[in-house]
Amino acid sequence: MRRTTPPRPIDVTAVLPQLAPLARPAIRLHPRPGSPTPLDSSVGGPLLWPAGEPWPHCDELHEWYDSELDEWREGPNAMLPVAQLYVRDVPLLRPPGQADVLQLLWCPFEHEPDYKPPTRLFWRSAAEVTDLLAVPPVTAAVEYDEYVPERCVIAPEEVTEFPHSLQLGKELQQQLEDWNGGQESGAAFYKHELSLAPGWKAGGWTPWGLTDPIVQNCAVCDAEMTPLLTIASKEWHSRRLSWVPYEDRDIAAVAGSGVENSPRVQISGGNHLQLYVCPESPEHPHSDLIQ
Ligand SMILES: [Zn+2]
Ligand SMILES: [Zn+2]
Repeated sequence: MRRTTPPRPIDVTAVLPQLAPLARPAIRLHPRPGSPTPLDSSVGGPLLWPAGEPWPHCDELHEWYDSELDEWREGPNAMLPVAQLYVRDVPLLRPPGQADVLQLLWCPFEHEPDYKPPTRLFWRSAAEVTDLLAVPPVTAAVEYDEYVPERCVIAPEEVTEFPHSLQLGKELQQQLEDWNGGQESGAAFYKHELSLAPGWKAGGWTPWGLTDPIVQNCAVCDAEMTPLLTIASKEWHSRRLSWVPYEDRDIAAVAGSGVENSPRVQISGGNHLQLYVCPESPEHPHSDLIQ
């Protein structure tokens, strides 16, 4: 499976050369329904998980109805696979040591105080997993179905991104305002067509907008953290189709196909979950926020 983003309508660095040093690679994941194996990169599992390693659980309080026992139960909740990314597919990942696969799980709840699903990240070396866990534990409690990803294969594709305009200096923001981007204001054209790729992605820049940009500092070494993974609620909007890959152009025109959100994930009603990693060490704890 391959997905190809059309080239941007113009080279923005030809208009605003100050943006050139801010270019960053991002890898669009383009999740689509499929049947990945534990040896594949995927969204929604299955994970390459060692039989001898405890499955991660969320320790917050959960209640669920057990239909076999016909009673309400409470306790910790087995987390759900969200993404598994092999470095061979997403080479901008920076693994520790010999690790070559990154696994993300979450609990399908918006727990207080942040009202977002708690996330856990694991790095592992695929060659060391010889005895595979056959059946992961069932996630008994689900607050929102929108946090239960549909199983998808991915089609990683590298693109170039520039910062959200809120992350640019005042002078650059003003130049964008003054620039005539053709059919719309330069600022809107930059925001929608030239800066950030929509959809699930690794690396790149953060899709700010729900709040002003907030610097994320590592809890261990205080370094400024960088975007690791963006989990989106949509890969395109019906009126903004320039980021739709060539291979999806036909189906994007079919109303209700749902392909623009194949994993069926909605982050707090249509936002993004942005995960960050410390550039000094992948073993320092990650952070995340909703945008
Ligand atoms: Zn939980
Ligand atoms: Zn750190």
